[in-house]
Amino acid sequence: MEFSHWPVTLELRDTFRISREASDRRENVLVKVVDESGTEGLGEAAPSGYYQQSADSVTQALSRISLTNVGDPFLLEDVLCDLSGKLRNQRSALTAVDMAFYDLIGKRLGVPLYRLFGLNCDRIPATSFTIGIASPDEMRRKTERAADYRTLKVKLGTDNDREMISAIRDVSSVPLRVDANAAWSVDEALENLKWLSDEGVELVEQPLSKDDLDGFRRLSDLSPLPIIADESAETPEDVVKLRGCVHGVNIKLNKCGGLRAAIEMIHVARAQEMQIMLGCFIESSIGISAAAHLSPLVDYADLDGHLLIRNDPFTGLRLQGGRILPPDRPGLGIQPS
Ligand code: MG
Repeated sequence: MEFSHWPVTLELRDTFRISREASDRRENVLVKVVDESGTEGLGEAAPSGYYQQSADSVTQALSRISLTNVGDPFLLEDVLCDLSGKLRNQRSALTAVDMAFYDLIGKRLGVPLYRLFGLNCDRIPATSFTIGIASPDEMRRKTERAADYRTLKVKLGTDNDREMISAIRDVSSVPLRVDANAAWSVDEALENLKWLSDEGVELVEQPLSKDDLDGFRRLSDLSPLPIIADESAETPEDVVKLRGCVHGVNIKLNKCGGLRAAIEMIHVARAQEMQIMLGCFIESSIGISAAAHLSPLVDYADLDGHLLIRNDPFTGLRLQGGRILPPDRPGLGIQPS
């Protein structure tokens, strides 16, 4: 197999703020694999500083692996099992290779990935669209511009959380999802959950710090709203540990290691009767398309990463009735824009 990778700079439409950071652009890494038949597969790494990853660390990790001995790309278990050990600390690098192999296989078979997985696109839930932390005026403007979406996601964990929710409520009554990005204590979360449930919030993502499983257990018992773990739920093993602590998990391909790991997490979560959100980082249509093909399996979609950038190098995803639909073409189905 031929294998190459290169960095790509994604420019954000607006400065993106969450409780711990702000950014104007994102450095991701694209991966291409080409097999003996000349069929290509593309994948994307969206490295996150939170998980000690950067475009440099991903590039270094990818430079250390070789795919020259891979003869048959359909032997995914062999290839990805081996790589998941080698790329354990750089799971976004693993994600990019995983996506590229699935893309290539779908193209070889002539089917979109959702067909390969046996999934029905009618089951895809509407996506939420994130309104980043901003001044009340700016939040009202952003909310008005987001009229095509059935659900909005708001990043909280600031000193003026109530003001931001009121600003959105001034101009919209759609259901809200709240993400505190690990910013609250159990007591703060309990207090916030009370007023948030009166504001038409349908769930709260990662209210507490990553490792506070006891806190999550106490909070979930008392919470009027579903509690969804994001930062706490990186891998299938984490989903096992979170049983009884949260109502659901937010699975992201670039957090867990790609489609193969995400499918495993989905099955583990379902076996434990947990709700599932499928989320993303700031990603081009490559990464979001991979997730969209899997999204008929989940309860909540949060696949707005490509909508937040203004120089998406790829195209093919559709927004229909508030839902992000994967392309109907073989593999990931995306094309250069
Ligand atoms: Mg989150």
